[in-house]
Amino acid sequence: MIYTGGTIGMMKNQETGALEPFCFDDIYTHLPMLRLIDADVHIKELQPLIDSSNSNPAFWVRLASFIYENYDSYDGFVILHGTDTMSYTASALCFLLENLSKPVILTGSQLPLGVMRTDGRENILNSIEIAADYQNGQPMVPEVCLYFENSLYRGNRTYKDNAEHFNAFVSANYPKLAEVGVYIKYNTHYIRPASKEKLILHTQMDDNIAILKLYPGITEQAVRTVLNIPGLRAVIMETYGSGNAPTYPWFINLLQEAIQKGLIVTSVTQCKGGGSVEIGKYGTSVPLGQIGVIGGKDLTTEAAVSKLMYLLGQGLTNEEVKYWIPKPLRGEISE
Ligand code: ASP
Repeated sequence: MIYTGGTIGMMKNQETGALEPFCFDDIYTHLPMLRLIDADVHIKELQPLIDSSNSNPAFWVRLASFIYENYDSYDGFVILHGTDTMSYTASALCFLLENLSKPVILTGSQLPLGVMRTDGRENILNSIEIAADYQNGQPMVPEVCLYFENSLYRGNRTYKDNAEHFNAFVSANYPKLAEVGVYIKYNTHYIRPASKEKLILHTQMDDNIAILKLYPGITEQAVRTVLNIPGLRAVIMETYGSGNAPTYPWFINLLQEAIQKGLIVTSVTQCKGGGSVEIGKYGTSVPLGQIGVIGGKDLTTEAAVSKLMYLLGQGLTNEEVKYWIPKPLRGEISE
């Protein structure tokens, strides 16, 4: 179990009343039930502990490298992580760790572990139980997953949906991998099989990307500024509905110019509840297809960020990056 920071590892300072990180050496005091789990759990704090708002590609690489270096010593990994960017980290890890054959489960909590009504206790215990669950020598979920409030999700399909509810994550375009009640019910049909190849660690991520969220009234100046960021290699454009965008000539011309100069532009939907980009479905997305915008289908923005950083970091040509954007590499996008 790797503790990286976030709310889950906090407790109230008795004197000041403020939330402060607690030392995980004390975990058995806060979570005596951990002793009852049929698994030998080792705990590692990944220093420096961070609020996940401070996560970045260097942090993802550090975390992936730690798992890689310790891969043979453990049957599974549980990562305790702040909820704010947990979906981004889950997505990044799935790209950085190629050929995974063991569970890597991210979890956290809305209330600190040191607080009476915490959701952290259940989240940790269930995550460990799932990470340690092997049948016939095979792990039940050899994927990068996210566990929260009785549900196990494919990590790269999730996003944080609520800042207060215990049920804080959603996977709109992919079914849950498992549901936890009296029994743990695995949706085995939707779980990726363990890779038979050797684990590969990737460490190169190119962060020369930007997100351009469209909104009615977006100005030429705003679009031009984003597209002209020095060194920019790719843009994730959050479009309306099934991939629609304004058809104003200035808007299409700016995008076309940027694409001709070598910028990669991919389109994902702003609709959080589900659905996919289908360029050409409506007249308002036809020009995007004509100028070379790549439809990102049902990729979440969270997964698109690390997928692009990963692809750009691989030393591929632009054409190769464009080829791979709509193709599933780790189950992050539907075929
Ligand atoms: N800001 C915190 C974090 O993401 C919130 C949390 O842990 O839930 O690190």
